[in-house]
Amino acid sequence: MVESALRIGVDVGGSKIEGIVLTADGEVSELIRVPTPRHSYEKVLVALCGVIGQLQQGRQLTVGIGTPGALRLPGETIKNSNSTCFNGKPLQRDIEQRLGHSIRIENDANCFALSEALHGSGRGCRSVFGVILGTGTGGGIVIDGKLQTGPNQIAGEWGHNCIPANVRSSITEDRQCHCGRWNCIETVLCGAGFRRSHVEAGGASVEPAEIARLAAQGDAVASRSLETYSRQLAQCLATIINMLDPAMIVLGGGLSRIDQLYELVPAMLAEYVFTDQVLTQISPPRFGDASGARGAACLWPLLEASYQKSAS
Ligand SMILES: [Zn+2]
Repeated sequence: MVESALRIGVDVGGSKIEGIVLTADGEVSELIRVPTPRHSYEKVLVALCGVIGQLQQGRQLTVGIGTPGALRLPGETIKNSNSTCFNGKPLQRDIEQRLGHSIRIENDANCFALSEALHGSGRGCRSVFGVILGTGTGGGIVIDGKLQTGPNQIAGEWGHNCIPANVRSSITEDRQCHCGRWNCIETVLCGAGFRRSHVEAGGASVEPAEIARLAAQGDAVASRSLETYSRQLAQCLATIINMLDPAMIVLGGGLSRIDQLYELVPAMLAEYVFTDQVLTQISPPRFGDASGARGAACLWPLLEASYQKSAS
């Protein structure tokens, strides 16, 4: 293994910082996990750079970082992060100053999509839409192995599109999103959204995994809730398929562990997608939570990683 084929990826989450060294063929050769310091941006920076230093071991590997939230250009301060001590901070610049070299940084949904497209469930597919269904609802688009980005750094953020009218008719009242808008897709498809829909349908206030478990046991209310959620997901994904027509949609986040979705949703899609036969594949993730660090490492394509090395 030549050193230039190794890349560092770090996932900075609300509870832990996970750093890896990724090999050219997508294997994790080293892994470090430390708790994320609470309430102190400075302490997070120190911990993060400490992890990177340990992984470098004196080498000059490229560094990619995945984090919740979006980068605000051109000031490059973080916005929309649920790790609130990052918001308004120029995270990339501060890390680069400490390390003394450039890094790349992307939101965790984009890292998830990239990781699954290059080495995971979407491997070999020309276009992949990676979906996060968890605390929030995010997404990332990878075409021909490249993450799609744009001037606003929001490509794939379908969670803050307004729900289609056919989804609105399945909820009892309008829902305000944490972003301030009303009836965002996230308010229905995130974990809390599913739970709320289940309560509105007469169920107990329990986690989505519990609703799925009860449905599998034949509980009538839970079965109906799971079917409603699956239909809402199909209706929201149909808008993506009509627009982007990805070969593969990979689900991630906590709700991607609900097995029934992979039977229910594909069967419902034909009703909402503008085609007679829906060929879009919908798959569970290969890497799950590990995708944050893996995708972050892939923010530097192998070719560039080796260029940087040979130039140094
Ligand atoms: Zn929103």
